[in-house]
Amino acid sequence: MCDAASGRTLGMVPTMGALHEGHLSLIRRARAENDSVYVSIFVNPVQFNNAEDLEKYPRTLDEDVRLIGDSADYVFAPSVEEVFPVPPTEVYDFGTVASVMEGASRPGHFNGVGVIVRRLLEWVRPHKAYFGEKDYQQIAVIREMCRQCRILSEVIPCPIVREPNGLAMSSRNRRLSREEFETAANIHRILEESKQFSNAGEISHFVENEIGKVPGFKLDYFQLADSATLLPVTDMAAHEGVMGFITVYVGSIRLIDNVCYR
Ligand code: AMP
Repeated sequence: MCDAASGRTLGMVPTMGALHEGHLSLIRRARAENDSVYVSIFVNPVQFNNAEDLEKYPRTLDEDVRLIGDSADYVFAPSVEEVFPVPPTEVYDFGTVASVMEGASRPGHFNGVGVIVRRLLEWVRPHKAYFGEKDYQQIAVIREMCRQCRILSEVIPCPIVREPNGLAMSSRNRRLSREEFETAANIHRILEESKQFSNAGEISHFVENEIGKVPGFKLDYFQLADSATLLPVTDMAAHEGVMGFITVYVGSIRLIDNVCYR
């Protein structure tokens, strides 16, 4: 797909569809930085470790294509059979970045992410591939996958786009009731308020306590981690970059977010 000899650059934005402003910000950035833009839309079954989540994942292809409009040159929306004519069997070891937090909470998830992103990047061979920092850990896993598989595409992290109420945009937000949508804004509020503390123990205590006070919230995990290694942080001063990673169930919907402390 990408013709290095032509000197034209290709930017790729892999998505699972049900597009929102977060996805569109990646597509616009790819458009600004490349000659051509390639968007993929594929709800990847092998990265879901929960059958109900896969079944209920929103699929809005016609609307997605309309939203993309002229901002991409190619939209690739294959069927499961096209991508996986036989079930994939690859088993990766992406190390620590894939075993902590989302890796621990969703067994097999990052292996499935590695399987699909590797295929997409090898098929399309973009110069640059754009990913959102909402899925911060995923970016670290994809970087590791590219290193192990010798994929030369440059991985470009893009900032989180939020709803006016602060909730990180997500395709899963469509499944929230109006009330849950408003309640879910507390995730970002609590993370922002936790910046008033400088001690790791105080931050974790505050976040866990505040999340526990919100009716309808169930905390999966809150973890302070080094922004480069993703290893747990207990002493803030010992790390150059520290982030907080959170996963909360709002009713039955699992939402993730993160915050940068330093
Ligand atoms: P998904 O369709 O959920 O697989 O997401 C496709 C890409 O869009 C991933 O790189 C996500 O990290 C990114 N993305 C999703 N939500 C947001 C957001 N609110 N802000 C920025 N990027 C996002």
